[in-house]
Amino acid sequence: MMQKVVVKEPGRSWIEHDQVLHTFHANDRSHPRREEVFVKLKEVSVRLKEAGYVPDLSCALHDVDEEQKEKMLLGHSEKLALTYGLIVVPEGAPIRVIKNLRICADCHSFAKMVSKVYGRKVCLRDKNRFHLITGGICSCGDYW
Ligand SMILES: [Zn+2]
Ligand SMILES: [Zn+2]
Repeated sequence: MMQKVVVKEPGRSWIEHDQVLHTFHANDRSHPRREEVFVKLKEVSVRLKEAGYVPDLSCALHDVDEEQKEKMLLGHSEKLALTYGLIVVPEGAPIRVIKNLRICADCHSFAKMVSKVYGRKVCLRDKNRFHLITGGICSCGDYW
């Protein structure tokens, strides 16, 4: 069984592109290309849902309504970093994302769906381990 993690440190994710490390916070509005990232994120979420992705609302921490929860989940920093990767990392190259905390179950399934739907290889390093995701399957076997 998965353990519920109480987040004390704010979640942050990084992605390296053109020798620059881009940092994303949850619901980040500070990145210079944020507009592009949020537009793309919307597109990604629609495509993933069509492919069968269901947001895991149990990963949302706050006691808010379903729609709000879904919005907050979508704003997780690793999703923003991953989406940025879809924009800037050339086709065929892996998207490498680093997360300072343990990745939540929803971001994990999101990353798996991205690898399947977009045909991208995703390397995700979180606090606990390394996830190598290809074709919708993660090297951790969904146990992390
Ligand atoms: Zn998450
Ligand atoms: Zn994994």
